[in-house]
Amino acid sequence: MGIDVWLPRDAAEPEASGSDDPVAADGLDWDELRQCVSDCTRCELAESRTQTVFGVGNRSADWMIVGEAPGAEEDRRGEPFVGRAGKILDEMLRAIGESRDSVFIANILKCRPPNNRDPHPEEAAACRAYLERQIALVEPKIILAMGKIAAQNLLGSDEPVGRMRGRAYDLDGIPLVVTYHPAYLLRSPSQKRKSWSDLCLASQTALAASA
Ligand code: URA
Repeated sequence: MGIDVWLPRDAAEPEASGSDDPVAADGLDWDELRQCVSDCTRCELAESRTQTVFGVGNRSADWMIVGEAPGAEEDRRGEPFVGRAGKILDEMLRAIGESRDSVFIANILKCRPPNNRDPHPEEAAACRAYLERQIALVEPKIILAMGKIAAQNLLGSDEPVGRMRGRAYDLDGIPLVVTYHPAYLLRSPSQKRKSWSDLCLASQTALAASA
């Protein structure tokens, strides 16, 4: 992807919290990457997690969905978006003719932040290489960034979601569309109309990318 991807040098000698110790992860296959994630102690979330939440779905998907971080249910089950927000995500996927099995779903963080607080920047930085490697392996036609944390981290922006949605970005050659997080849609169902228009934009963009 033209991005240097870095992971811990030695899983047996984990770095302290927020490590920026760079070791190339380019070339890791799915199994190696999953193992690396599950052994990860690059930030302090390793101490409080029940398990890592790697991501699920089709490893050759056209659509890659990126959320924020596991919540309590995801931490318990080891799968992203299985709580109430996940039901909304399932509805959104159904609306565009996709499913949890046809897309690939991942998060900015692989571990649950305590009390569902926002990810700290150093946690997102420590976890970034894993998501970048997942994106490189999947090679999706479209990335859907769900919510502020996903959009701001992926795009290196501090703009609110309302200002980022409505256009397609280029993430190292992969189109990216921003939409609201499903948890926000649970609280503000009136915004579902806007989220539908984001999905339409993402669909059109994915189609154009495959033409
Ligand atoms: N919210 C997210 O962003 N990701 C999950 O996996 C669950 C809830």
